[in-house]
Amino acid sequence: MAENPITSAIRIQTERTNEMEHSTPMFLTSSFCFDNAEDMRAAFADESDDNIYSRFSNPNIKEFTDKMCALEGVEAAYATASGMSAIFASFMALLKAGDHLIACKSIFGSTHTIITKYLPKYGIEYTYVDAGNIDEWKAAVRPNSKMLYIETPTNPGLELIDLELAGKFAREHKLIFNVDNCFATPVCQRPVDFGADLVVHSATKWLDGQGRVLGGVVGGKANLIHDIYLFCRSSGPALSPFNAWVLSKSLETLDVRMERHASNALYIAAQLESHPAISWLKYPYLPSHPQYAIAKKQMKNGGGIICFELKGGLEAGREFMNKLKMLSLTANLGDTRSIASHPASTTHAKLSEAERLAVNITNGLIRISVGLEHRDDILADILQALA
Ligand SMILES: *Cc1c(COP(=O)(O)O)cnc(C)c1O
Repeated sequence: MAENPITSAIRIQTERTNEMEHSTPMFLTSSFCFDNAEDMRAAFADESDDNIYSRFSNPNIKEFTDKMCALEGVEAAYATASGMSAIFASFMALLKAGDHLIACKSIFGSTHTIITKYLPKYGIEYTYVDAGNIDEWKAAVRPNSKMLYIETPTNPGLELIDLELAGKFAREHKLIFNVDNCFATPVCQRPVDFGADLVVHSATKWLDGQGRVLGGVVGGKANLIHDIYLFCRSSGPALSPFNAWVLSKSLETLDVRMERHASNALYIAAQLESHPAISWLKYPYLPSHPQYAIAKKQMKNGGGIICFELKGGLEAGREFMNKLKMLSLTANLGDTRSIASHPASTTHAKLSEAERLAVNITNGLIRISVGLEHRDDILADILQALA
């Protein structure tokens, strides 16, 4: 009997060929077919690596995580829909009620919210420590301490944490050492070389680097990543195959992009450093950075972020932002296009001045994410806005 055309239109599919496409095709599929019941049984029994369902795995996601493993030097990785879901999963899969987390207090805002608002709801305790004060870290250790969580360089203050020292500390106290490596990226800094057990990323920033997609990834020791995978496979923060395809392509240019972001940033930072409207400027690869020695030890370059303090405070910050002509005023960072932000009047405006100062968000603080435009054009826009 002839098939109904409606059925044909639904069932006809391009056969997979044994030729290899030069650019990976997109696997926009929620699930995968099996030839027979036995293959399907084996996949569900974890006896094969066959893809089952895109919440668990997908070829585009695997390409992205394989590339991240190569770059970060980690055994395994799991990709998520955003940086925050990667960070959240690393806590929820590996900590339980009664455990204690030690974290540096200069961390990304939403990470701070998870640690202080949500983890305590599940009986997970935390202590914040000062990035540069190792005695405070030692005093924070309890018998139930399970994880050390840090970010270096920090956002937006560009404080650095000595990864070698932190790694030693984590080993001595048997803590899972978890590092947010978003600001540096693996082509600039590899936390596993200093003893990190886990590395988390917002792929939304430099990894994509072109402001297109949200994504996150957590890499590290295979046994830890397996636990995170099992948590995510059930709770569902999977990265979309489309975003994974975009991110896989992005990683192919990460090294050359970061080299240019960093050389642009170093040039601009050096030119701006002694500007009369600025009271201080921080960039990890300028000798004036208070932790220049640490930057040289653990980072291959200074990254793409500069921050500085305007002498005129809050009002000068608003005025600077208003006068910019080329730089984008947007909440993201790590893009081909240069971006300026003034945390005191935007991301941290709901805090009181005292609360802001406690987390080093000073009134005139400006953060610049240096893009890939010509360095003279970026500098010229900043200079005219400072004038
Ligand atoms: C943006 C960012 C995150 C969160 O990532 P999303 O992809 O926005 O969820 C985490 N850590 C740092 C340092 C970030 O800059």
